[in-house]
Amino acid sequence: MSTPGSFADTVKQQADIVRIVGDYVKLKKSGAQNFTGLCPFHNEKTPSFSVHATRQFYHCFGCGVSGDVFSFVQKVENITFPEAVRAIAQKLGIPVPRQEFSGPGEAQEARLRAALLDLHQRACAFFEAQLRTPEAAGAREYLAGRGLSQETIATFRIGYAPDSGFPLRDHLKGSFDEEMLKASGLFSWKESGDQRPTTNGQRPTALYSKFRNRILFPIANDAGKVIAFTGRALATDDKAGPKYLNSPETAIYSKSRVLYNLDRAKEAIRKLDYAILVEGQMDSIAVFAAGFHNVIASSGTAFTEAQVRLLARFSKKIVVNFDPDAAGAAAADRSLALLVGEDFEIKVLTLDAGLDPDLFLRKRGREAYADALKGSQKYFDYLIDRARASFPVKTSEGKVKAVNFLLPHIHRVPSRIARDELAKEVAQKLNIESALLMQELRHAAGTRSSTVKAPDEPPVTDAERILIRALAAGGQLDVEPGSNPASEPAEQLDFQRQVRYALTTERLHLGLSAESLLEALLAGEEPAADPMALPLSDSDRRLLASTLLREDEPLSAELLEEALEALRRRHLERQRTQLRNQIAEAERKNDAQALTRLMQEKVKLDRALALR
Ligand SMILES: [Zn+2]
Repeated sequence: MSTPGSFADTVKQQADIVRIVGDYVKLKKSGAQNFTGLCPFHNEKTPSFSVHATRQFYHCFGCGVSGDVFSFVQKVENITFPEAVRAIAQKLGIPVPRQEFSGPGEAQEARLRAALLDLHQRACAFFEAQLRTPEAAGAREYLAGRGLSQETIATFRIGYAPDSGFPLRDHLKGSFDEEMLKASGLFSWKESGDQRPTTNGQRPTALYSKFRNRILFPIANDAGKVIAFTGRALATDDKAGPKYLNSPETAIYSKSRVLYNLDRAKEAIRKLDYAILVEGQMDSIAVFAAGFHNVIASSGTAFTEAQVRLLARFSKKIVVNFDPDAAGAAAADRSLALLVGEDFEIKVLTLDAGLDPDLFLRKRGREAYADALKGSQKYFDYLIDRARASFPVKTSEGKVKAVNFLLPHIHRVPSRIARDELAKEVAQKLNIESALLMQELRHAAGTRSSTVKAPDEPPVTDAERILIRALAAGGQLDVEPGSNPASEPAEQLDFQRQVRYALTTERLHLGLSAESLLEALLAGEEPAADPMALPLSDSDRRLLASTLLREDEPLSAELLEEALEALRRRHLERQRTQLRNQIAEAERKNDAQALTRLMQEKVKLDRALALR
């Protein structure tokens, strides 16, 4: 939480949450002050993630997360609060003072990450420089043979790791201690057999680079910072090790959260509203170099949910440019299954004669690739074609097999309507007349358990919501003048005073679903500077966020009076119920005196209620 006057507070004053969130989520204006988009924190196909432009907070009606600009960046980047403050400050060009952290552990973690990023940046520059040395002639030859220009090599920061394990270590050891070098994942070491303690208490170890005699491709996070490397072996003998060697997981690198080339591709993906997915790094480099900048690589392993969500921030349309039948088909199948399940619009681009994108571009050129891209096929058309090619669909036995092949794919589609359409399409294309097969198809289309369940919102009446709004108003001095005349700060302040007075004197909110939230707002300062920053329970915060986001109708004196009136009436009704119980009790006990008194009270109450 940012305290007034702190650096974080300064940053928060200047940050526009709509723009910051907009870097991660495609936002659409959906009201006077609201923007909505697909939630980056849970899987969804219809937008339930909202950003409130004037109140500067976000809230997801689907999964219930909410918070301010810092909490958003913290969550989405998986970083600490001070790191989020710095990141946003940097985006806004605000000079950052020395770091403040809430605890030593947090500070240490952030320092480690910052140092590792620095180390990777320097290692990357080192490898790039090595590619220009005489020793790297073979590497340059290999890259030239793959058709990579100097410009492409520079763009992708491709480098060369020398055949010896020590130059990188020697290059870095002046700036980083041994622990940091070990934490980078770039080195191997053998503990020395020498058991005698050395002068500094550490046993000597011999660090050597894991990447030797390899072409190095840096892997960057989506902000463009190098966080890992892939090394391709140049030698082919037994000692060369695996053809491709990757950095291990480190404090800054988690394989399952990174998409190769997304840092360079993201703008194009957003602009063109689709991504091209290829299998390998060389393919993505070739496609990018040919001018198709919206290309990313899966690096031959199945997509993870984190990667799919990462991609969904930029577009939910994808053209898959690898043969799902080829080697690694299982991984491709899993990736596609995940994308279908996340409601991506998928097309399949199959290149002639099974050429991979890199080879295709070199043999046929970019125009041919552009044409192929235009001709890419809808994923389900592709699957149906595949079923027709694989099974004798003229026979009823072949039809059963084809349907069984297609059913699991159809089953993964989240929308029931889309599944139903698919079932019809399959039936038509496979000429299915069998009632039984149709039934199976329809069954597949009809059943599917829904996944994400929104947290229940308490049953709150409109009247309660209006009072919440009135109490939360007042700090809105940044409302554009004239944009919403009824929400002029002065007037809102007045509303707030009225409601405060009514609730504190009449205690009308006791027993309501919104009681604890209203109580917290009453206890807060007046005017409420930032009600979202109040210490609230999760459900109260959700209620506040959802109420503020639904501010469709401006507050007015009439609305407030109606709301208070509704509460008063409810209050009286509750009293009447109580009285009825007491009357029944008195009747049971034959207490004539009490009965008379209670009946009199009831008459008064009935009259009061009748007047309302
Ligand atoms: Zn959500």
